[in-house]
Amino acid sequence: MEKACGRTGEKAVSGRVYLVGAGCAGRELLTVRALELLHSCDTVVYDALIDPELLIEAPQAEKLPVGKRAGRHSEPQESINALLVKKALEGKTVVRLKGGDPFVFGRGGEEALVLAEHDIPYETVPGISSAIAAAELAGIPVTHRNTARSFHVITAHTSDAEQDFAKFASLDGTLVFLMGLAHIAELAKALVSGGMSADTPAAVVSRAGRSDMRTVRGNLSDIAVKCSSAAVEAPAVIIVGQTAALELLYRDQLPLSGVSVSVSGSERFLARLSDKLSSQGAAVRTAVRLSARTIEGKRIDSLLKNIGEYSWLAFTSVNGVEIFFEKAAEAELDLRSLYGVKLAAVGKETAKALRAHGLIPELTAGGSSDSLGKLLAQEVTAEERVMLLRASNGTTEITEQLSSAGIGFDDVAIYDTAVRFVGSADGCEYIVFSSPSGVECYFNNAELSRNTAAVCIGDVTAEAFRRRSDNRYITAKECSAEGIVNAILEDLK
Ligand code: SAH
Repeated sequence: MEKACGRTGEKAVSGRVYLVGAGCAGRELLTVRALELLHSCDTVVYDALIDPELLIEAPQAEKLPVGKRAGRHSEPQESINALLVKKALEGKTVVRLKGGDPFVFGRGGEEALVLAEHDIPYETVPGISSAIAAAELAGIPVTHRNTARSFHVITAHTSDAEQDFAKFASLDGTLVFLMGLAHIAELAKALVSGGMSADTPAAVVSRAGRSDMRTVRGNLSDIAVKCSSAAVEAPAVIIVGQTAALELLYRDQLPLSGVSVSVSGSERFLARLSDKLSSQGAAVRTAVRLSARTIEGKRIDSLLKNIGEYSWLAFTSVNGVEIFFEKAAEAELDLRSLYGVKLAAVGKETAKALRAHGLIPELTAGGSSDSLGKLLAQEVTAEERVMLLRASNGTTEITEQLSSAGIGFDDVAIYDTAVRFVGSADGCEYIVFSSPSGVECYFNNAELSRNTAAVCIGDVTAEAFRRRSDNRYITAKECSAEGIVNAILEDLK
């Protein structure tokens, strides 16, 4: 076989390909290794089965879709292979991100062989396969003592349309069919004609692990009809056998069970908010993600050197606090030079971030930057000077308040935010907006269905929302993840 260029005895390739299993849901079901590789790779080549949220783990990487997209067919396997080879020969570290496990009906084996043929180093990273996990997420164990001593993973998508499903009827244990939803009626019929009892339990688990996951339960005689009347969508697995009747789930009725919330905000904020929402039972999805990037520059460095000359430092976000401390450490700023400098923060969480560094703020404003402006206008004396440490695109409310109160200040942008659209809030009861830039980004990329109410942090964000939508909205009283969860709980009462 002909080999790719660059093979003249010495190895010309410096690139590398990782065939990575993406698991069958969001980030929670990724392996630590997969996450590390996403964080550090140059290129991600991904399938349509991948949860789009995973791609935000690789902001630095070039992202190339090769799966089936709306209306388009997937790339032929040969062109995917060629793409992997090409990128590796360019010296790239490539993550080939595949749904579930790369070697379970993922054609990962073929890709590995092609890479080997071209002498391209590759590594496989196992993933949590839907073959086990989809059933498990629905409370169905694929094996169970005395009930199912084996399980068989079978593709129901075959080039031979007349595939004889009946032959699987004689297998003992649980049958798990992948790619079978379109053929479920023939499949069930064939299993019965092969000798399985028509009342053998069967279940279909669709979109396992996603916020719109659904499980349809029945038996071989009615499962196909139940699926079509429930309009179940792919991807789905079909489970046939005694354990398909089990539902090993302890459903705690939590206050937000059954409520889907789409969230937007900075990475740090999203991590806290998702945690709080899911611990109350909500299904969480990301709409817009803002990442903070530290701003470098001589002006900032010299301002930091003279920080002790300010009477007040004001922080408007956790990002501002963390980036300030990172910068301070880099500039070898001795924290004792903050002696006597007073601190102000917007929101409990910003205050908490300061406390975590051993600094207790004198002032904490509840709601938004606007309320901090008001508080400072009351507290700061004419001789005092304020340093505002915040994002480059911060709102003008706070500076207007300070100016009109005649207070001297420096507005120091220590970070800027890159705003990235992740996905639509379709089907969600709520969408959380934490900044006007999040609102703009969302509406520039997607529509909001009538039934989705917005939860806005502060009046400025609410105003930005009103400009883009007539949908119902509520304003969180307190600018924190907890404040948002409370606002939703209050709204649901
Ligand atoms: N390598 C993948 C399987 C690829 S074949 C794995 O290990 O999971 C694609 C099939 O996987 C789909 O047709 C469906 O049967 C199943 N599948 C993948 N993700 C799924 C999900 N989230 N929920 C239900 N089924 C899923």
